[in-house]
Amino acid sequence: MASLKPVRGTQDILPDESRHFRRVEETAYDVAERYGFGEITTPIFEFTDVFTRTLGDTSDIVTKEMYTFEDKGGDRVTLRPEGTAGVARAFISNGLQQNLPLKLFYRGPMFRYERPQKGRRRQFRQVGIEILGVPTPQADIEAISLAETFLNELGLKDNITLELNSLGDSASRTAYRDELVNYLNGHKDKLSHDSLGRLDRNPLRILDSKDESDREIVANAPRLQDSLNDESRSFFAELCAGLNKLGIAFEHNTNLVRGLDYYCHTAFEFTTTDLGAQGTVLAGGRYDGLIGQMGGPETPGIGWAAGVERLTLLLDDGKEAKRPVAVIPVGGNAESEALIVAERLRKKGYKIELGYSGNLKKRMKRANDRNAVAAILLGEDELTRNVGTLRDMDSGEQNEVSLESLEDHLKIYK
Ligand code: ATP
Ligand code: MG
Repeated sequence: MASLKPVRGTQDILPDESRHFRRVEETAYDVAERYGFGEITTPIFEFTDVFTRTLGDTSDIVTKEMYTFEDKGGDRVTLRPEGTAGVARAFISNGLQQNLPLKLFYRGPMFRYERPQKGRRRQFRQVGIEILGVPTPQADIEAISLAETFLNELGLKDNITLELNSLGDSASRTAYRDELVNYLNGHKDKLSHDSLGRLDRNPLRILDSKDESDREIVANAPRLQDSLNDESRSFFAELCAGLNKLGIAFEHNTNLVRGLDYYCHTAFEFTTTDLGAQGTVLAGGRYDGLIGQMGGPETPGIGWAAGVERLTLLLDDGKEAKRPVAVIPVGGNAESEALIVAERLRKKGYKIELGYSGNLKKRMKRANDRNAVAAILLGEDELTRNVGTLRDMDSGEQNEVSLESLEDHLKIYK
């Protein structure tokens, strides 16, 4: 029945896969905590304004991808397509400027109406960070080094490249924008439809157009880099020097841009060639104008977000789930004793698998299927003597052990 399928672009995350999601999110959280970040959780939906004001009305997200609806009270709300706007809104609503600088971590589902593909979903998860209130490259260095450590700890270091660019300050960008529009106006006849639409409102975005003809034109366009003023250049130089000092490798990609006005200075992406067109796993940048533009106090910021799905697709499956110990009653009267033993061991922190029914053979098979590391067999006559049989599932070796000493014997499996 078609209606029992999940909505296009959404998915059920079953237990095996959930482990990968958890690993990505918990690693991000742990690393962020080590860098001094605290977690913030904002609502999954906000007034639509929160996103239109921050993402601008020409971005793909606002023009094509938002899940927006009117609720029963007549408010226009949107399922959040990304995390920064909500964090910026929360910063203003909670008067957090008293606490600057602020280092915030977030995780959770995001929603975008796009064409589903591998690594591209309509509901997907992100982890992300924001550093608010630090105008110097120090914050950019910290944000990037946190991202790098996070990816390293997931074991992804070898397949991922850091691409980095500077958009300069707003004076540099305004100067560049004029120059770029001038140049592009001379090639209007060959620009793609999308790019023509961006020419007036968001010309910088044309620089990272995927359209072949656009790319040819862009190849000879004036370069943003050449328009950077001294201040912007030294900001970027300081960032690069900091990354070098930390041994963080990067490539300077001069076409890496963020179209919106409040973005400045640093833009970066961690990319891989292992996911086809969905190669960006983590993306971020500096947004000094954003909070001011939302109506809050002028507050510099930098942050990044990573797609959890895309990262799980890159994870090496090698990290197995913790293996359980199977508790297996043999004979009717042993059932209730097995329950008690299982409960006792669980309270001590062991992962215990209880086969719920069937004969010994069936339960041993289940223990095997669940990759149990050991099994405790509890036979009725054994129980009268307060002992059980402990079997190592890998070697097949088994020994009778007293129930009191069970925990001592299990320690090697913990
Ligand atoms: P893309 O160019 O792939 O559409 P984006 O520029 O829209 O990415 P951001 O808004 O920068 O992406 O989001 C940060 C990260 O979130 C991306 O690098 C990606 O890993 C992930 N992401 C974005 N959209 C999706 C999606 N629809 N499904 C899964 N992950 C996504
Ligand atoms: Mg996108």
